[in-house]
Amino acid sequence: MRVLFATSEVAPLIKTGGLADVSAALPAALHEMAVDIHILLPGYPQVLKALPHLQVAIEIYIQPNFPVARLLTGSLPNGVPLLVIECAELYERGGGAYQDEHGLDWPDNAQRFGLLSRIAALLSCADSPLDWKPDIVHCNDWQTGLTPAYLHFSNGAARCVMTVHNLAFQGIFPPQMVAELGLPIECFQPDGVEFYDNLSFMKAGLYYADHITTVSPSYANEIQTDALGFGLQGLLSYRRESLTGILNGIDTTEWDPATDPNLAQPYNLSNINGKSANKRELQKRMGLHIDPDLPLFGLVGRFTPQKGVDLVLEIAPQLITLPAQLVLLGSGDVEMQRIALELTHHYSGQISAYVGFDEGLSHLIEAGADIFLMPSRFEPCGLNQMYSQRYGTPPVVHATGGLIDTVSDCNTISLKQGIASGFVFNSMDAPSLLATAQRAVLTYHDKKIWRALQYNCMIKDFGWDQSAAAYHDIYTHLMRR
Ligand code: ADP
Repeated sequence: MRVLFATSEVAPLIKTGGLADVSAALPAALHEMAVDIHILLPGYPQVLKALPHLQVAIEIYIQPNFPVARLLTGSLPNGVPLLVIECAELYERGGGAYQDEHGLDWPDNAQRFGLLSRIAALLSCADSPLDWKPDIVHCNDWQTGLTPAYLHFSNGAARCVMTVHNLAFQGIFPPQMVAELGLPIECFQPDGVEFYDNLSFMKAGLYYADHITTVSPSYANEIQTDALGFGLQGLLSYRRESLTGILNGIDTTEWDPATDPNLAQPYNLSNINGKSANKRELQKRMGLHIDPDLPLFGLVGRFTPQKGVDLVLEIAPQLITLPAQLVLLGSGDVEMQRIALELTHHYSGQISAYVGFDEGLSHLIEAGADIFLMPSRFEPCGLNQMYSQRYGTPPVVHATGGLIDTVSDCNTISLKQGIASGFVFNSMDAPSLLATAQRAVLTYHDKKIWRALQYNCMIKDFGWDQSAAAYHDIYTHLMRR
């Protein structure tokens, strides 16, 4: 079975969120299962710098309108084969994968990810410049959403899977891009790539893919509703027989408190006291009062309304009167960043925010915090709540998407069953979040129950084996069709 995994980010080379983690871990798990998998990725400067020994494979000319690109071959640090698209005109520039240094979308994102989508399709076609041809092209989010459309209108023999990691981002561009990106004009209609008079990369993927997956069973249901379908609920419920929710796993080697080099002291279930050294280190590093007994809340993530960071900032002054401390790590919305830094200044020693991206600090927060906060308004899967459970840091989560599928609320019944692993609230508002945080603090002070909760969290299996097998089943099924 040959699979081309097309993606716009892969950890540790280039990462803005969970897609990068999944794009590293899922292909690795499939590779272990003897799937002949190659990752296809744009050659951003971060990628070319991290992998200086890539081999030049071949030049690619796609007429019309695309610049010349070269395909470089190599492999990821985890051994998975990698194909990198070198195209200086579109990819080699400062800033990030999708935005410039001021947080503005690159104006040529349609061309940048049109090229990625186009090459992903080309590699399975008769006129591919490579001998290696995939049976399955696995696309991820809007950045590769045009691939199924290109495949549909080409002589490609591959079957196509489209995975939705976050439906909120859709890649919407003006209608003239249809012709400019070399798609036949007849696909610009409601039964095609058109979405409210524009071209939608995401809709193209959802319409033309042979199978759609998303990253948790609950989110698979939610995206068929008006509340969370972002205008695509009709198409998704029409395609529900071809839509599967498969829970993401996590990289259990990268995220292992027993071996994590970012921690002040490693620990595991039988030596959980080692966690307190990390709390001390986190308090020290973030300028909080060193206090082993005060419950410490942690949050890591994009500062956006999706993640409910606004609610956390709103309750922060009351949260610390529980009493408790709060650490925040993230970046995004400028106003949220400003409030987080203002709280840090005003409640010095009790609240501390670091605005920016810091992989090492994110690991230390998972280990050093007592309780993790993840009150997302919607959450396709979410990784941090799984990391936190693995690090014995029970999360407080809103009942949505993958958070429902990965966290069991702590109550008498779930404790008795030995499955309690966090604190879940239903109503997305500040009083409910605060009340649930308070419930977590009360539980924290009952050491016996807290240990039981940490135990339930840490013995959970969040590895990729089961999920990779589910993707393998879908590929097999498609190849038989
Ligand atoms: P999303 O993909 O919606 O941003 P996920 O929970 O699925 O959310 O994944 C986010 C990933 O990005 C996690 O690995 C998280 O630790 C990481 N992350 C987010 N923000 C930061 C940050 N400021 N510093 C370090 N890591 C971060």
